[in-house]
Amino acid sequence: MKLATFTSGQALELGVVISPDQMVSLSRAAPSLACDMIDLIARWPLIEGEVRRIAHAAKDTLAMSSLTLQAPVKRPGKVMAIGLNYADHIAESNLGTPEDQLWFTKAVTAITGPFDPIQIPKVSQAVDYEAELVAVIGAGGRHISKAGAGASVFGYCVGDDVSERAWQHRTPQWALGKSFDTHAPIGPWITTADEISDPHTLNIRGLVNGELRQVSNTHQMVFNLWDQIAHISQVMTLEPGDLIFTGTPGGVGAGFKPPRFLKPGDRVRIEIEGLGAIENVCEAER
Ligand code: ZN
Repeated sequence: MKLATFTSGQALELGVVISPDQMVSLSRAAPSLACDMIDLIARWPLIEGEVRRIAHAAKDTLAMSSLTLQAPVKRPGKVMAIGLNYADHIAESNLGTPEDQLWFTKAVTAITGPFDPIQIPKVSQAVDYEAELVAVIGAGGRHISKAGAGASVFGYCVGDDVSERAWQHRTPQWALGKSFDTHAPIGPWITTADEISDPHTLNIRGLVNGELRQVSNTHQMVFNLWDQIAHISQVMTLEPGDLIFTGTPGGVGAGFKPPRFLKPGDRVRIEIEGLGAIENVCEAER
């Protein structure tokens, strides 16, 4: 199932994508079902049957063209991201393969919608794109085993781990360079985990102004998603709606000589097999 957060007026609504051009609003069909996506994920074991029934009935569908897709999880509890996790990206970064998983956080205020603008910040001249598979935590928990990690995931979406390289590398800690407002576009919706038999077999592409810059497959990850969940859940409780950015393949702007950073007007498109695509145009921070 493909679950979306959208607006078609003032209010935020939850919906099920039933075809490339049609959405069913769960918020209209069953207003008491869930108040937002995190609530829906937390209550999923109780309400999945009802959601599937509403999607199947497909009454009062909305045309996709009449609504605006929002970030499926607008304000997650946390956004964790792994760095240097595809061999070709490590090579272009002139950094060694980490022996340990390299984790950083992105501020939750960086989250933005699948077709919303990416800001080129006033204080920046080195904004870069990173095509990434994003896992959305479902049941979550602490001390999750590799074998149990799949069951802790609710679903998957497409993400862009937008990165300001000067701020990223000014200090050993990457958090600020990864956390500018609008620098975490996600979407276009969450594809539930039952539709993705293995998240490590998905083709992933990143394009800038139609030019293919990143092309890879999630099987190229150094540490796969199950390794990642087992590792970070030793430290922190993963909760419904938490996001995990799983690393980017080679082809980022910083890897070119000279670097090819983003500028206002650039259109960044990220595609992942089975999950859809997001597309964000860069604009100068006002
Ligand atoms: Zn990244």
